[in-house]
Amino acid sequence: MEKQSRRNFLKTTAIATAAITGLTTRKTKAQEQKGFLPDKAMGVLVDTTVCIGCRKCEWACKTAHQMPTPPIEEYDNRDVFKKMRRPDYTSYTVVNEYKNSDPDKFPIDVKVQCMHCDQPACVSACIVGAFSKLENGAVVWDESKCIGCRYCMVACPFQIPAFEFHKAFQPKITKCDFCYTRQSEGKLPACVEVCPVEALTFGKREDLIQVAKEKIRLYPKRYINHIYGEFEVGGTSWMYLASEDFTKLSFPKLQREPAPGVSESIQHGIFAYFIPPVALYALLGGVMWLNKNKKTETEEE
Ligand code: SF4
Ligand code: SF4
Ligand code: SF4
Repeated sequence: MEKQSRRNFLKTTAIATAAITGLTTRKTKAQEQKGFLPDKAMGVLVDTTVCIGCRKCEWACKTAHQMPTPPIEEYDNRDVFKKMRRPDYTSYTVVNEYKNSDPDKFPIDVKVQCMHCDQPACVSACIVGAFSKLENGAVVWDESKCIGCRYCMVACPFQIPAFEFHKAFQPKITKCDFCYTRQSEGKLPACVEVCPVEALTFGKREDLIQVAKEKIRLYPKRYINHIYGEFEVGGTSWMYLASEDFTKLSFPKLQREPAPGVSESIQHGIFAYFIPPVALYALLGGVMWLNKNKKTETEEE
């Protein structure tokens, strides 16, 4: 992708500034996107009652993204479930295991990754447009635009974007990209393709909601009557079915309204100290962008 030029940065900042100016009186950019998705938005329905915790999806994700990974056989080791894990720069997705409240039943395995929110807080929060929501539902990150401010990490209600803290130069924000490159080639997301028990169903988001509702209707003892992600934070492309309340499976309890972009929180905080918010917000972005370029230049010398 094209590198962010100084002129482009100023242009982007001007747009961001204009957007921020309107935040006090108008809805956020993400809120205004309501209704943007309907037809083309794809999604994945995760049926946690089917998942066997084989973690093949973790392996497939790393392989598809050319990330270092142990051989697939090593993923059979279930000791990994002794502690809870989060996606980070080494894994865009992880599977965690929870005790079933019915001791006669199998434990519950839950795959975690970016939810690809319909109205993403990360997109709202990013002042230089490094995050964007694509027509197929994927929320993606553009390295060439990122200034490393990490507002996206603060804004995400699911604590998904991770940062390569170990890298002194050009650290990246990392997260599941919904395999948008594979999707553009007509392929399934790698995790969906590999899942041996079809715990993951890829399809149009609106169709998946119908599939989920039908499953709940047919098997009311198997599922609680809640499709996680249908409405949370305005809806997400990834949705879940489960046999237990989602709060017992570490899902955050969220409102139906889209999560506010961190920009709003920052702006309100700054207002309290009587500093003109737009100017300061733009300045923060400018300082970070210049620092980024300085680092790049030093590296290239
Ligand atoms: S889960 Fe977080 S990172 Fe993913 S789209 Fe939603 S706000 Fe963005
Ligand atoms: S959709 Fe692609 S990037 Fe996201 S978890 Fe699955 S394999 Fe990984
Ligand atoms: S590959 Fe499928 S069954 Fe295995 S852990 Fe991932 S989602 Fe669950």
